[in-house]
Amino acid sequence: MKKYIEIDNQNIEFKNLLSGPAQIGRILNYIIYAGEGMLRHRPGNRNDSMENNIGSAWCIEFMIGLGLIELTSKINHTNIYNTRLTNSGVKIYNILTDNAIGPELNYNSSPEKVLDYLKSKNALNIVNVFEAVFRNTIIFKDLCIFLDLEHVENDEIILKKAEFMEDIFGELCEFYTHTSYIRNGNGASTAGNRVPSLIQLLCFLKYAYVKNGKIHFIKEALIHGIFDENYKLDISDKRLISEYEKEEKIIENLSKKFGIAGNRVVNESVRLSQTQLIFKERLKREYGSHCWLCGIENETLLVASHIQDAALSNIYEKADNNNGLLLCAQHDKLFDSGLISFDFQTGKIMISKLLSDSDRKLTNIDAHMKLDDQLMNDGRKRYLMWHNNKFLSFENNN
Ligand SMILES: [Zn+2]
Repeated sequence: MKKYIEIDNQNIEFKNLLSGPAQIGRILNYIIYAGEGMLRHRPGNRNDSMENNIGSAWCIEFMIGLGLIELTSKINHTNIYNTRLTNSGVKIYNILTDNAIGPELNYNSSPEKVLDYLKSKNALNIVNVFEAVFRNTIIFKDLCIFLDLEHVENDEIILKKAEFMEDIFGELCEFYTHTSYIRNGNGASTAGNRVPSLIQLLCFLKYAYVKNGKIHFIKEALIHGIFDENYKLDISDKRLISEYEKEEKIIENLSKKFGIAGNRVVNESVRLSQTQLIFKERLKREYGSHCWLCGIENETLLVASHIQDAALSNIYEKADNNNGLLLCAQHDKLFDSGLISFDFQTGKIMISKLLSDSDRKLTNIDAHMKLDDQLMNDGRKRYLMWHNNKFLSFENNN
């Protein structure tokens, strides 16, 4: 007998590969974070605040169980791991970033809402990828065996939610860990008020629905699938991973050398120039090689501008493209000095009263400017909130 995944040395328990509040909306957001090299895992951390880029462990472990992401190196000597997308994850990442739909969805988005939203954005490819990925997992095969699909005669198989969780966890835990599972004990359904991820995913794929505390499994959907049956998962796009892998490696090495906070500065110029280079490349990849405000394209004039002061950012924040805007030298100076900012909710420009009408004209600034909606993801909004405060305190003290 073989374990589903080698997780022993990374402290991931089998039950967590199936359990927890890993709504589809959150998974899609995490795929974007992972694609940007900004999703980290700390075993046992159930927090979803993305503090220091550490996401909800449950969600991350569920995604590992689905084969969307994998853990890579530890950060320094902590028990925090970097993650990266698998080829399946890259596939979804590419669709997500093409359609710019990730930020609209979060962990509160229900499977139905996510599905409707994807339809409205013409991004049903994502569902096809999810389906292809899910049908290839051992979790799915075990589910079919557990439901005894071959022998069931009814169109729907109806189980009480609690029983289903206990039973399937019990059987699978025993199978994969070779230890007997204590029924009604600690662990299986985690907390009564949480809808386990597996059921959420089944609902998202329309393989099941929940009604009056019971799960209705739809036999036909489980056997034949429901979305495009001719869809083939294309796992050829490895370009993205290798770029991020290379960059993450550099950042990792720098953080080992100089410390994650960047306080123990040994050689400031080396540390800054390498991180800054990666930072700039990421910004260009995200939204193009031009000033995001006025459109100037000359490479020499473009500055990768940190939203939260670089001096106050740790090495990961320094390289986080959400913490940046690509601006021309003049607009970088205005932004960096706090003479302009961008409203963290709307992206609309905020212009200081210290900037005269004629200077506004000469610096090509006007009140109608705003950052493109595509740039206003949750990560960048958080950094912009910091900058809005900087702007306002500068405004009030002058
Ligand atoms: Zn500009």
